[in-house]
Amino acid sequence: MGVNKIPIFFHSNQIEFKPKYEWALGNRIKHPETTRRAETIYKELNKSPELFEIIEPKKIPQKLIRQVHSYSLLNLYNTASNLDEEEEFYPSVFPQRMNPHPDPTNIKNAGFYCFDSGTPLNKNTWGAAAWSAACAFEAANAITKKHSVAYSLSRPPGHHASVDSYGGYCYLNNAAVAATHLKSRGRVAIIDIDFHHGNGTQDIFYEDGDVLTISLHGDPREHFPYFCGFPSETGRNKGEGKNINIIVKDGMSVDGYIRKLKRTVLPLVSRFGADYLVICAGFDTYEKDPIGSFRFQTDDYQTIAKSISSLNLPTAIIQEGGYFTKDLGKNVRSFLTGFMK
Ligand SMILES: [Zn+2]
Repeated sequence: MGVNKIPIFFHSNQIEFKPKYEWALGNRIKHPETTRRAETIYKELNKSPELFEIIEPKKIPQKLIRQVHSYSLLNLYNTASNLDEEEEFYPSVFPQRMNPHPDPTNIKNAGFYCFDSGTPLNKNTWGAAAWSAACAFEAANAITKKHSVAYSLSRPPGHHASVDSYGGYCYLNNAAVAATHLKSRGRVAIIDIDFHHGNGTQDIFYEDGDVLTISLHGDPREHFPYFCGFPSETGRNKGEGKNINIIVKDGMSVDGYIRKLKRTVLPLVSRFGADYLVICAGFDTYEKDPIGSFRFQTDDYQTIAKSISSLNLPTAIIQEGGYFTKDLGKNVRSFLTGFMK
């Protein structure tokens, strides 16, 4: 597509949110979704101004976030903005079956909206999440104009956040914000290559016939988010047949993965007649990732990108997971360069 420079969207306020720890299977562990992740990526891409142009996004229109998320969820984030400086809220009651009456102005009701114990709220959550979504909006906007590829350095990530719930280190669904903006201009396909199932994105577009969502991920019987991501979840009403889940075995090498892309994913996107592509780019598929169980190497990301870029669609790449921070920048660079030339 003749790409020789990719716009990169990032705002420094995104690193003001610093989750301290998560509760993982009863253990208190250092939170993996650190500010270092974004800093490492930024530093790596900033080395090559001839390839990557780093741009600060403008504030995102609230209206666009409201098209994706419920008022009640956003109200809760607003409540969290009033927490004390050092306070971090982890719900410990999740009233899934109690016919609850949640009050989003009461932080103690956060368990109604949250589905895990790894995704804390604090004073800076909303600010960082809104700027992370702003990057995705700008990347989407860029590919409707003069760019054929754009990258959103979204952090915190987004693909686990649904219309009215958050979890998996995600608060606002950045990819859904991008896809919602693009949807007013054409048909949108989302390919989620993060190690984990994009349950939030699935939820948001489950009844939407104009957005095709495809997620390739580790087996949910073994891996987060556990309760969904199965091939039988195919969409509903107008969205029937427009939600595809592909389970990939632990230890998968890139060759098998590329085969799934070429045989199944890319033909589905072509048949759908997508005008735009959004990629949920997670790098927790990396061989050294502490959370994922695939075995991809740095160069493999370029191979995956080349395969996807054969679709020749305007493409917004949205950063999702990836927790081996030391090599995260290199892996992102490898992926982005796969879209060049
Ligand atoms: Zn992930």
